[in-house]
Parts: sequence; C-alpha cells; structure tokens
Amino acid sequence: MIQLQNYINGKMCPPAGGTYIDNVNPATGEVYAHIPDSGIDDVNNAVLAAQAAFDKWSNMAAKKRSDILLRIASLIEQNLQQLAEAESLDNGKPVWLAKQIDIPRAASNFHFYATGILHFASEAHAIEGTAINYTLRQPIGVVGCISPWNLPLYLFTWKIAPALAAGNCVVAKPSEITPYTAFLLSELCIEAGLPAGVLNIVHGTGPNVGAAIAAHPNIPVISFTGGTKTGAEISRVAAPMFKKLSLELGGKNPNIIFADCNLTHAIETSVKSSFSNQGEICLCGSRIFIERSIYDKFKNAFVEKIKQLKTGDPNDENNFLGAIVSKMHYEKILSYIDLAKQEGGTILCGGNAIHPEGRCANGYFIVPTVIEGLAYNCRTNTEEIFGPVVTLIPFDTEEEAIMQANSTVYGLAAILWTDNLQRAHRVATKLHSGIVWINCWLLRDLRTPFGGVKNSGIGREGGFEALKFFTEEKNVCIKF
Ligand code: NAD
Repeated sequence: MIQLQNYINGKMCPPAGGTYIDNVNPATGEVYAHIPDSGIDDVNNAVLAAQAAFDKWSNMAAKKRSDILLRIASLIEQNLQQLAEAESLDNGKPVWLAKQIDIPRAASNFHFYATGILHFASEAHAIEGTAINYTLRQPIGVVGCISPWNLPLYLFTWKIAPALAAGNCVVAKPSEITPYTAFLLSELCIEAGLPAGVLNIVHGTGPNVGAAIAAHPNIPVISFTGGTKTGAEISRVAAPMFKKLSLELGGKNPNIIFADCNLTHAIETSVKSSFSNQGEICLCGSRIFIERSIYDKFKNAFVEKIKQLKTGDPNDENNFLGAIVSKMHYEKILSYIDLAKQEGGTILCGGNAIHPEGRCANGYFIVPTVIEGLAYNCRTNTEEIFGPVVTLIPFDTEEEAIMQANSTVYGLAAILWTDNLQRAHRVATKLHSGIVWINCWLLRDLRTPFGGVKNSGIGREGGFEALKFFTEEKNVCIKF
C-alpha cells in the first residue's frame, strides 16, 4: 500500500491529525494508496513555511529561479514513464495518453514559465518634460493553487509554475481523487533543490483543505480550476476578503459542423474532441451541431468510427478509453444517460457500462456514447456531464447554430468546422466562449490567453496573463 505525505517546508510529512483517506484505482475498484486527510493545521503550517521563504525567493535573481524550475522540468522528463503510470493508476486514463499528453505538458509548463519570466517586462509612461511613470510588477506573497482530477499533474503545474516563476511562494492542493503525481512532484522538487517552503503541497478534501486555503487571511491570491459550484463557493468566501481570484470552471462546449467543411477532417478530429481522456477534458465538445444537409452523412461515419474505439484496461495501448475517474462520477454519467433516454433521446452507440475480463472486472468503464433526438435546450444538452457522452443536433441556418451553441450558462471553448473563411471569422466573433478552435481542436500555444466566460470562469491563464495575475502592479511616478 502506497502512503502519500504532505510536502511542507521542504520536507515530506504526515498530516497533523494523523488520519488518512483511501485512494482507489478506478480501473480495478481497489484501494491502492492512503492520502493525508489534512486540515486547517496543515494549511497553517504550509502558510507559515511559505511566508518564511518568500523574502529570499522573491528577491532571488529571476535567472536563478528559472534555473531551479528548469531542473524540475528536466526531472519530470526523466521520470516520464513512472509519472505516466502513476497518473493512469490514479485517474484511470490510458498510460499511453498520460505519456503523450499529461506528463510532457507538465514539463512544458515548468519550461515555459521558467523561460517566460526572463522575458516579462513592464511599461513606462513619460509626461513630457515633467515626469516619468514606470510600472513595477511585484510578486504578491503566498498564493493558493487548487486543481481538479481530470488532468492532474498537467493542471497542477499550469498554476504552480507561473506562480513560482513570478517569485511567489505557493500552498497547493491537488484533487484528493488524483493526488499521486503531485506527491511524486514534491520528491522531484526536493531533488531539484527548490528551497524549503517555496512550494508546499497539502493533500486532503475540498471542504477541509481547499476551504482552509480559500479562507486563509494570509493567502491573498487564489488560482482555482474545477467545477462551477466549487468556484462559486470559493468566490463567496474569498471575494469579501478582496482576494485576487482566477477561476477556471466547467463547460458544455459546442462543436459546430457546417456543410462546407472538410468532412473527413471534421469527423476524425471530432472523435478525439468527444472522447479523449474518456470525455473528461473541460475542452471536449459534447454538443455536436451538424448542418442538416450533411447530418446523416456525418452521423453514419462518426458512429461507425466510435463503435471501433476500444474501452478497457488503461495499461493496454490498444484501448482509446480507460476507466472513469471514480465510482461517484461513473454513476453520475450513467444517470445522465438515463436522463437522456427519459428526455426522448435515441442512443446511437454505447449507452452502457462494461466490465472487462481479468484485473479490471470491478473498474468503472463506460462505452463511448452518442445520442440524437434531443432538444438543444433540454437538461442533457445544457448540464455538464464530463464523460464519454455526446449528442448530435441538426441545424438549418448559421443564426440557429449560433443561438443554440450559446444557449447554456457555460462559455469555455467552441469548435467550428467550415472552409468558408468569412463564415469562420463571423461565427467566431459571435460565439460566447473564451476559446474558439476553427478546423482543429486542442491546438495549444501556451502564450495564448486561456479561460472562459459566463459560468465557465473569471480571468485568464497562459502566457504573460498568468504572470500578470501572479504579480501586483505598482505605478511609480518621478517628477523631473
Ligand atoms: P471540483 O470543483 O469538485 O474540485 C476541484 C478542486 O477543488 C479539488 O481539489 C477539490 O478538492 C477542491 N474543492 C472542493 N470543494 C472545495 C471548497 N469548498 N473550497 C475549496 N476547494 C474545494 O472539480 P472536479 O470534480 O475535481 O473537476 C471537474 C470539474 O473541473 C469540471 O466541472 C470541469 O469542467 C472543471 N475543469 C475546468 C477546467 C478549465 O480550465 N476551465 C479544466 C479542468 C476541469
């Protein structure tokens, strides 16, 4: 049995209360690790360590901070196989996927911000003949980073790397459902020579550890990725304390297929944008709107491809889908498939759980599911399911497609397929979302602003946006 520990003040340590939570491998349903059931005392200890480390870390030359973060990036790369296996064990995703996407991206996050900080600059404003203003961008202090279970190390490091590069110290909490790679990261930080207290990782539940971070008076900045309800709860606590908040929340993304697109390309990519990572990516397109003249052609070819996707043991590289992250989430997804049937939907493929033979017989597996025949504004089409379930919806006009695509409370990402350049630009401006991919999906440039509108969040991560978020601007005016 693996026993995880917190990482506080440069050391691995047990939770103050001495209690642990079971951590389940979703591919087998078996407990494989115990994780610290930390609480407010552990968060307090982490904040004290971070405060003590702040002066030295924030005043260290950016190049020196950068060198340490680059060492962490290299260590992640050197431990690719072990980290990918740990991510898969914890989350249920295929090992090949963690090896191709999650872990390399975690290394890139450190690499990107370790070098980005060397190019971060600020403005000066001269008042002719009178004065000069210049803007300082200073690290803020102790920042709180809270992340979800779907892309565990990828999203954890996406927050931590810019926060540290900018000169802050961090108290971070990974999801209690997928804490293993964050634990392994602590060991790599020690090996890389990260000074004690600069990064502290406290494991435990949202109500115990996450809430303590959100409410802590000495954590003035919170960067959160997770569900919309949790984001609202964090805002409720943190906003009256005037904390700086970045909230990356849920989504229900449209994937709009116009008849004038390259259909082969649209179908191939839609398979991935629907079912990669078991559909548990906040950027997956779960509502596929198809222009009526090509509806049947798209549907038949798409469903044919989906039927060929294999679901099962995450260690088998022939499987495109692994296990759903937890029993609770598995049951939630199945309940949405039932709801879709009650709402009059027709299941075109999938719609059921499976129990593979052998070691995964008690795991949480759901076959990729395609549903048609539902109104664009029913619950199935407006609530986030966050699993391997997509719906097909025909449309007749561009205006109708835009109206239906915009008809949820969410606005994270949208996907658009058309070979008509004017239409592409026109529709992109009208979609209510923070990100629009045209004729592609998940093509990521880490310099671009990342985030959502409406109930998908507040603020932007990525590029210099994140370095701006993790620093405070101060204008200094000098009279000649
Ligand atoms: P969640 O909101 O349940 O949990 C996210 C994190 O918040 C976890 O670490 C959890 O322990 C913590 N938490 C829970 N309650 C808390 C509280 N009261 N105070 C502080 N922290 C608390 O989300 P999840 O189920 O882990 O992740 C799935 C959700 O994340 C989906 O809605 C998905 O769309 C969203 N997501 C969004 C993005 C994005 O970039 N916008 C990326 C990935 C996932």
